[in-house]
Amino acid sequence: MLADEMRACTRCVELASTRTQVVVGSGPTGARLVIVGEAPGAREDETGVPFVGRSGQLLDRLLEEAGTSRDVVAVINTVKCRPPGNRVPSKVETANCRPWTTRQLGEMTPALVVPLGLSATTWFLGRTTLGAVRGRVHEVDGQRVLPTFHPAAALRGGPNGEAMTRLREDLALAVRLVS
Ligand code: SF4
Repeated sequence: MLADEMRACTRCVELASTRTQVVVGSGPTGARLVIVGEAPGAREDETGVPFVGRSGQLLDRLLEEAGTSRDVVAVINTVKCRPPGNRVPSKVETANCRPWTTRQLGEMTPALVVPLGLSATTWFLGRTTLGAVRGRVHEVDGQRVLPTFHPAAALRGGPNGEAMTRLREDLALAVRLVS
């Protein structure tokens, strides 16, 4: 099983030796909407569930406002193990983990993927800026992708205090598109 294979992965020597567990993802395998973040933080590493801190609580609230819930949405990260101190995953670590994420998406075949923040967006679209691509559906190798802000950016209020408004709008659009 894919999840078991990921849990045994030690491709990134540092991450494999410092993690509490591999954060495989949450939600039903047949989810029509898949939300993708960058990497687990401390709470995620502890619990094994992605997006359970303040960002996760905001994500849950905005999904509920949009008329859905985490129960029917899958949430994964591009990198499955917590980088020490919540540092940004290296290019090598992201590349190491890419085949797992590709296989996850291949198994789930979602109608729409929503990457949160620039890092996850770049994973799908390549080098870009969030302002150039967010809020619109892009087709990448047959997969529909709708990038938006990371909830952490919305909680920080930036840029220009608009991140929360845009994140709310984009998640509402995502839910409409898969309904
Ligand atoms: S981050 Fe991904 S590739 Fe690296 S050890 Fe964890 S599961 Fe394996």
